[in-house]
Amino acid sequence: MALLNRSEWYDIARDTNWTPSYVGVEDIFPDEMSDAFGLSLDQWNAYDEPFKISYREYVQVQSRKDADAYSVKAALARSNFYDNAHPGWQSILKMHFGALVLLEYNAVIAEAKMARFAKAPGMRNMATFGSMDELRHAQIQLYFAHENVSKSRQFDWAIKCFHTQNWAAVAGRAMIDDLCLGRDAATMSIMLTFALEQGFTNLQFLGLAADAAEVGDYSFSNLISSVQTDEARHAQIGTAALKVLIANGKKEQAQRAVDIAFWRNWRMFMTLTGPAIDYLTPLEKRHQSFKEFVHEFIVAQFERSLEDLGLDKPWYWDLFLRTVDYFHHSGHLELWFVRQTLFWNPSAGVSPPERAWLEEKYPGWGEKWGRMWDVVGQNAIEGRDDKVFPKTFPVLCNVCGTSSGGIPYNGYHQGHWTDHGDGRRYYFCSAPCKWIFDVDPKRYLGHLSITDRLLAGQILPPTVEGALQYMGIHPGERGADADDYAWAHQCAAVSPSQTKVPHGNLATGL
Ligand code: MN
Ligand code: MN
Repeated sequence: MALLNRSEWYDIARDTNWTPSYVGVEDIFPDEMSDAFGLSLDQWNAYDEPFKISYREYVQVQSRKDADAYSVKAALARSNFYDNAHPGWQSILKMHFGALVLLEYNAVIAEAKMARFAKAPGMRNMATFGSMDELRHAQIQLYFAHENVSKSRQFDWAIKCFHTQNWAAVAGRAMIDDLCLGRDAATMSIMLTFALEQGFTNLQFLGLAADAAEVGDYSFSNLISSVQTDEARHAQIGTAALKVLIANGKKEQAQRAVDIAFWRNWRMFMTLTGPAIDYLTPLEKRHQSFKEFVHEFIVAQFERSLEDLGLDKPWYWDLFLRTVDYFHHSGHLELWFVRQTLFWNPSAGVSPPERAWLEEKYPGWGEKWGRMWDVVGQNAIEGRDDKVFPKTFPVLCNVCGTSSGGIPYNGYHQGHWTDHGDGRRYYFCSAPCKWIFDVDPKRYLGHLSITDRLLAGQILPPTVEGALQYMGIHPGERGADADDYAWAHQCAAVSPSQTKVPHGNLATGL
């Protein structure tokens, strides 16, 4: 029997809008679930998804992808790669699985919400496949992580993390609630698919896949490349939605959604991917610096996408470009300092040759962060645990949930805050996070970061140990310096004068 070509039946088959007679359109597609922009079904009918696929084709392609990824894993199962891997790379794997895998499950819900509530039939179609994609990402990555649980309990955080009150989980849930689960389908298509997936996932999934191949972790490299092929498809949902919104006079509102989401994503990716690429990846295997990755995968591509759509760069673009030079250096130092709260073992990544690399990639690094690490290293050598572990927790941003990332020795002070009449002062890491709060304060009012909870008396005893217990991170899971301070001894051997640097104050230096 002759089959029609897909192009001959696709438009009719996917166009499932009809005129309801039992209830009104607004009952089926309420604005708060479907479209905060308030466009009509007719206006959304112009939605033209750039990627058209049938269910039959989808299943065939996906089953091949799964077969490829699982067979590479099976073939390498006895290679003992993990046991012999560089400790920094082991940490990258733990960080990736713990921080991202259950976000994939949240993305299942987000895509399902678009599949149900989007007014455009084409968007519902793409999001149906998107939801199945995300289910695959969650399941396959949990499966890969599980293999290593017997080698380190920290891999258990792949499934555990988002069920805890760990600060990273609190920040991650708050972000995904803000960008996805707490938004209507149209806004979500911009914030999740356009800003996060199209804007940022290439950085984590392609950037890291390249480094994984370099270090010889073909199983992981294949896994995340496989995931990214799905992202590249369903990430196009938002671009097509933006075209409809802009054509119908909603540019300003759409631009605001882009600006909010881009900054929130940037804060998250710089916190995790920045240290992974510039500090945890073994030096001789580094493909590019984080800054080079950001310029290649984010700046150039995102600017082009915005221009093609007729959107502007976010209002804070100049600030964003400046922060590519420093946010993650301060963020990495901060993460290392609170390493007991992490479910991976951060490498300091500042041995003499690594410092030379950092100085080459980020001229002036040594004067700023190198000096800080000198002090940390000296304290580590002297066994001053009172100085290389925090006595309390840092001020966390009331929007992004991460710590403020200033430049050390640069007169940093906590300058972004607002009083909102509810008896609390809300602090922010940066002007854009404060702006996000001010755009719609009721979305964020009342949220308590881990530090806020400590101050509010919710964490007992109100000590670091009490907070670690509260965060669900138990002895045996807590992060420790990946190299047992070997880097500090190497630095001291090369340059004993480093020990003369005056002690900085880490708590306020950031
Ligand atoms: Mn995904
Ligand atoms: Mn996705």
